[in-house]
Amino acid sequence: MLLGGLIDKAGLAFRLGGMRRRERWSRSQIEAWQARTLERLRRHALSHSPFYARFHSGLADAPLAELPVLTKAQLMEHFDDLVTDRTIRLRDVEAFATQMGPLDLFRERYQVVTTSGTTGRRAFMLFAPDEWRWVMASLPRIMHWHGIDTSAPNAMITTHVPWHMSARCASEAGRLGLGAGRASLDCAAGTEALVASLNDLEPVTLSGYPSMLALLAENRRNGQLRIAPRHIFCTSECLTPDMANSIATAFGVTPANIYALSEAGAIASTCTAGDSLHVADDMCILESVDENNRPVPPGTTGEKTLLTVLFNRTMPLIRYEITDRIAVAAEPCSCGRQTTLLARVDGRSGDMLRLPGSEGCTIAIAPAQISAFLRGLRISGWQLTAGQERLQLAVVTVDQSCDADLIASRLARGLADLGAVVPSISVEPVVELERGLSGKVTIMRAVNGEKIH
Ligand SMILES: [Zn+2]
Repeated sequence: MLLGGLIDKAGLAFRLGGMRRRERWSRSQIEAWQARTLERLRRHALSHSPFYARFHSGLADAPLAELPVLTKAQLMEHFDDLVTDRTIRLRDVEAFATQMGPLDLFRERYQVVTTSGTTGRRAFMLFAPDEWRWVMASLPRIMHWHGIDTSAPNAMITTHVPWHMSARCASEAGRLGLGAGRASLDCAAGTEALVASLNDLEPVTLSGYPSMLALLAENRRNGQLRIAPRHIFCTSECLTPDMANSIATAFGVTPANIYALSEAGAIASTCTAGDSLHVADDMCILESVDENNRPVPPGTTGEKTLLTVLFNRTMPLIRYEITDRIAVAAEPCSCGRQTTLLARVDGRSGDMLRLPGSEGCTIAIAPAQISAFLRGLRISGWQLTAGQERLQLAVVTVDQSCDADLIASRLARGLADLGAVVPSISVEPVVELERGLSGKVTIMRAVNGEKIH
């Protein structure tokens, strides 16, 4: 019973083998695979999800582009009807998520991942064992593109918040004994502690949030950090040209850019031939669209992205709206892979808090780090507004009770540990977070309401 939800090394190797075979496919083979897999997913959703039976009613034969767009609010509102295991209830998933440990499975079967919460309510993603194999194989696949020996010392700087996708993958990899030299370092630890751990580990491969790696690049330049990784991977946030330059200059390695989502795992990455990102077409379909959900041409950055996850039957995501902005590349990559190619992934670059550092530099802080500082405080959503000398944190709490002093002191301690000069912090409990004109919540913004850049 207990082993029912666990995946093993052999299953993972099988999944990875299939992924590698498909990478040698022609464009028409890839498209035929997508059409077949999508058809099966849609049939499954129509017959096993009361929500999709209504949502896609009369559209069984319509092309993907004519199906309605699914928002996060709809997903959460209709959660019990949307999932195809008819016994799953959102309230049970929520109760499980508040106390789950790194290796715990919901009903001893499902991996539960939640998004960091850029809207008032967190969204929950569920993965059955075979679906989780896809997620777990997605990163080794990309490592393989870069010719990496995954058994070499490998440090990943990530959040240890147990419901975060990268933390779950790291725990699972540890359980499976993948990558003998793998170390998962907590991004909420202070810079000094991270530098000491990295000097100790001497990783050949270093991966993490670009904001963290850019911060470590400064420590590399001033000589405190002495490591010489051969490969660097940036995940979870937008890798801006400034950050890429700073990392490349400090370490002498061009960072690879991985695009990973809580909804699907690592679904795109640069290869060794250029800056464009190859999409894992066997895992998902990405549509770059304007505000009215109309497709934008290659080379143009859309306003949002519609994601269809091809491998998740438990929780079908078909044309699911995500706020990242992507541009499909107009030209193919010189490496010869026939996958969909992205010229850019934007949209998260605004979500960074920058504070003066105690040693004169600027400290960039990612939303996931803030979430990590607030872990365990029963906060379901937050929004940070940065003024010149003050940070205002609006919080939605799980049970409407709020210890503002405790929340403020946790945030202050976390920021100080990262080396920031901490301004005064005020905490305000709210029922709902403030939304912009598009209906989205910007979780980090300057005091005038603009996004922080
Ligand atoms: Zn390529």
